[in-house]
Amino acid sequence: MKLLENKRGLVFGVANNMSIAWAIAQEAHRQGAELGFTYLNEALEKRMRPLAESLEASLILPCDANNDEELDAVFAEAGRKWGKLDFVLHAIAYAQREDLDGRFVDTSREGFRVALDTSAYSLVAMARRATPLMTEGGNLLTLTYYGSQKVVPNYNVMGVAKAALEASVRYLAADLGAQGIRVNALSAGAIKTLSAKGIRNFNEMLKVSAERSPLGRNVFVDEVARAGTFLLSDYASGITGDILYVDAGWHVLGM
Ligand code: NAD
Repeated sequence: MKLLENKRGLVFGVANNMSIAWAIAQEAHRQGAELGFTYLNEALEKRMRPLAESLEASLILPCDANNDEELDAVFAEAGRKWGKLDFVLHAIAYAQREDLDGRFVDTSREGFRVALDTSAYSLVAMARRATPLMTEGGNLLTLTYYGSQKVVPNYNVMGVAKAALEASVRYLAADLGAQGIRVNALSAGAIKTLSAKGIRNFNEMLKVSAERSPLGRNVFVDEVARAGTFLLSDYASGITGDILYVDAGWHVLGM
């Protein structure tokens, strides 16, 4: 029996074949899930469409998570096509490049708004639209990072956005549990992706975490993919409102 047999889910956040969402999507597909994908803009569509097609995607739609009409259209289409929805993978985040460098104190009002809106509120916006389709229960999974809990140089406003995202996971879990809907976050260790390259000195983060993590290395994206697929599956049926760390143990260190 495959873990996600008969499950249908929407995947937000595949930019290219390095994306964490792509790794989770591949594992989810191997485990029997039928998937729909979204892309942010036409430039990214060119890269992601062949990937999505290689997994026999049922839906490939545009979606800027800050655009309510596009969000409405994606969930309406999923409802038309599938009738019900089992899961949503939310793997999107954005902050202005100048806010991922230097001092957090220099974050502008607009930079703060953009980061929080795109990286945290977007989960709430998706939950509002997804849950009416989750008529047989379901679940929402988002991606976070330890910079929400502790100060990580240059992560800055994204750390604050991830803290809001993690709190949103808990509040959503409390609201939606009665409908059989689970909401969790997976806190991944540092992985080189398109977004990660926007963080100044990201290579230094990779180097330090590889040297110091309990496992003595960085996490592999397929480890994140397997743990994410577990959280999306009924094997995790007792888990909600939680943050699962998949970071080679980095977060347990005090010094
Ligand atoms: P990525 O660049 O491959 O993915 C980020 C995605 O966010 C892209 O697909 C991009 O199109 C999408 N996005 C940005 N703004 C958007 C918007 N307004 N509407 C819709 N989509 C939008 O990078 P990734 O590292 O795979 O990031 C996926 C998630 O994992 C993010 O939430 C990131 O914070 C988180 N994460 C990454 C790491 C890491 O080290 N790479 C570690 C922990 C958590």
